[in-house]
Amino acid sequence: MKTVRAWLTGLLLVGVSMAASAAPYTLNGDWEQGSVLIGSTTPGTKVTFNGRLLTLTPDGKFVFALDRDAPATAELRIKPPGEREIVEQHDVAKRAWDIQPIDGLPPKLVNPPPETEKRIAMEQAKIGAVKKRDTQISDFATPFTWPATGRISGVFGSQRILNGTPKSPHYGVDVAVPIGTPVLAPAGGVVSLAEKDLYFTGGTLIIDHGHGLQSILVHLSKLLVKPGQTVKQGELVAESGMTGRATGPHLHWGLYWFDEHVDAQKFTGDMPAH
Ligand SMILES: [Zn+2]
Repeated sequence: MKTVRAWLTGLLLVGVSMAASAAPYTLNGDWEQGSVLIGSTTPGTKVTFNGRLLTLTPDGKFVFALDRDAPATAELRIKPPGEREIVEQHDVAKRAWDIQPIDGLPPKLVNPPPETEKRIAMEQAKIGAVKKRDTQISDFATPFTWPATGRISGVFGSQRILNGTPKSPHYGVDVAVPIGTPVLAPAGGVVSLAEKDLYFTGGTLIIDHGHGLQSILVHLSKLLVKPGQTVKQGELVAESGMTGRATGPHLHWGLYWFDEHVDAQKFTGDMPAH
């Protein structure tokens, strides 16, 4: 009996290892709106996601993401060295977002005053340029940690419709913390933007975790790092606040993969006890 079981176990192990070596890649994450997917493959493999050729880390890791409003299907192409390209169509699950219509507001609260238009456009162009970075930093592949702990007061993807006009969706997670709370780098990387006073976001920090994945931390009262500076996961980078257009003290943390807006809360997992 013992012999049979050992033989069976051995057979199963062989089966598993054969299957593993046959697969051209592994992937962590869900095919769902707002998700980040982290993959691993043989170095030298060409990975293309929705037409974008991805850069790989030296050990074959890669990242791509699905925007809040990602369409129902996405295409992944994998071409291991010397082998045929595999083309996969994946269904992307739709998520339900919290949509709130608010009517009867004075117009000045719905749209920023016209004299601020130029300033806002310049600031958005600056952030837009930072989002294009595709660096060889490999911190994207490490598990992320919360930059601050506290009650979650705003979730990713929600949207207000003010006087019938849909406003930009909420592309981050809000943690209700008092002004001056230490803000820690959710993963290692390089500071790609540090601005004390942007119109919407006030004190704003962007950390590049590599290969297109970046964190934005906003409404900060104090910035403690400079652009170009390398930071480690958990390092003190700022103090929280309520600068910019914040209605109360909190930390807003957003995650981008290039222009795709993704859910930092979902990517990181449960908030630790606080
Ligand atoms: Zn927010």
